[in-house]
Amino acid sequence: MYKAIVINKTEAEGYNAHLMDLDDGDLPEGDVTVKVAYSTLNYKDGLAITGKGPVVRKFPMVPGIDLAGTVMSSTHADFKVGDAVVLNGWGVGEGHPGGLAQKARLKGDWLVPLPAAFKPEQAMAIGTAGYTAMLCVMALERHGVTPDKGEILVTGAAGGVGSVAVAILAKLGYTVVASTGRPSEGDYLKTLGATEIVDRAQFSEPGRPLGKERWAGAVDTVGSHTLANVCATTKYRGVVTCCGLAQGMDFPSTVAPFILRGVTLAGIDSVMAPKAERLEAWSRLATDLDVSKLELITREIGLSEAIDAAGELMAGTIRGRVVVDVNR
Ligand code: NDP
Repeated sequence: MYKAIVINKTEAEGYNAHLMDLDDGDLPEGDVTVKVAYSTLNYKDGLAITGKGPVVRKFPMVPGIDLAGTVMSSTHADFKVGDAVVLNGWGVGEGHPGGLAQKARLKGDWLVPLPAAFKPEQAMAIGTAGYTAMLCVMALERHGVTPDKGEILVTGAAGGVGSVAVAILAKLGYTVVASTGRPSEGDYLKTLGATEIVDRAQFSEPGRPLGKERWAGAVDTVGSHTLANVCATTKYRGVVTCCGLAQGMDFPSTVAPFILRGVTLAGIDSVMAPKAERLEAWSRLATDLDVSKLELITREIGLSEAIDAAGELMAGTIRGRVVVDVNR
């Protein structure tokens, strides 16, 4: 038997999530079975557990889009019993049972070796949010945004993706401006490396097609009017990475920033990102993220607390990242 959070949709209870005991017969198809040590709560897990967004594609479903653990059995050529592994995305926790469980069966092709620099709980403190932050930074670099080009704006800065993005960019020498709706987290964001804190309200309402040019680059986790206003205030030839929708899925912009200022909007997807890019992101995290900052970013909870914490995440009251120890 193993414990897992299970999401279901029933006539009696509607959409629901419970901590349950499952057995090996409940494991799906897959060539690698993993004893999970830690998982996390990402925004998508919050949507899945609370039912606030259409994340779960099959019921019953074990949520958890990422996990770190040890291989218990494997018929995959790249993995053997005892290997430490990490998983992010690939539809796990959405259409394939995920990491908020003590055991998971997965496709070996989805797994990445746990980088030697990290303990499993540190890899999950980074989690999909942090790996996505790294993908955003890599995209800025790919498009030529170097620290000398000017300020980088991070929106949703006190959230998971935002916190890790601030820490990575600061370590790489960028000047980071953090946009948050929580002024009380200003000191936290400055400790992570932000040089200035701005109120997210300045981006959240409908704005003009073009504003005063300020940002050399941006990591936007928020979408909607915020993304439109960030694009409108990005400097000539600047780059905006777009990875999230915390404000909304819409993008009420005009083409002006793109055709008049040559702004690049770079889309970031962590779920289906090719393996080579994942390996690069994890290896960059090992060098470009100050591990001592992870403790500040992270709160650890047990599996039995994950359902309540998902509600807090959706209410926007959680700072940074939530790591879930699935064995307590
Ligand atoms: P969190 O919930 O940890 O952080 C989101 C942050 O967004 C909040 O902390 C808050 O920051 C800000 N925010 C919340 N509501 C609003 C609002 N109405 N208007 C403006 N800002 C708001 O989530 P994550 O950091 O884990 O994820 C951020 C986004 O990135 C999510 O939309 C998620 O789905 C997406 N994502 C996408 C991935 C991809 O592959 N593209 C992978 C991982 C995440 P503050 O309090 O500082 O203002």
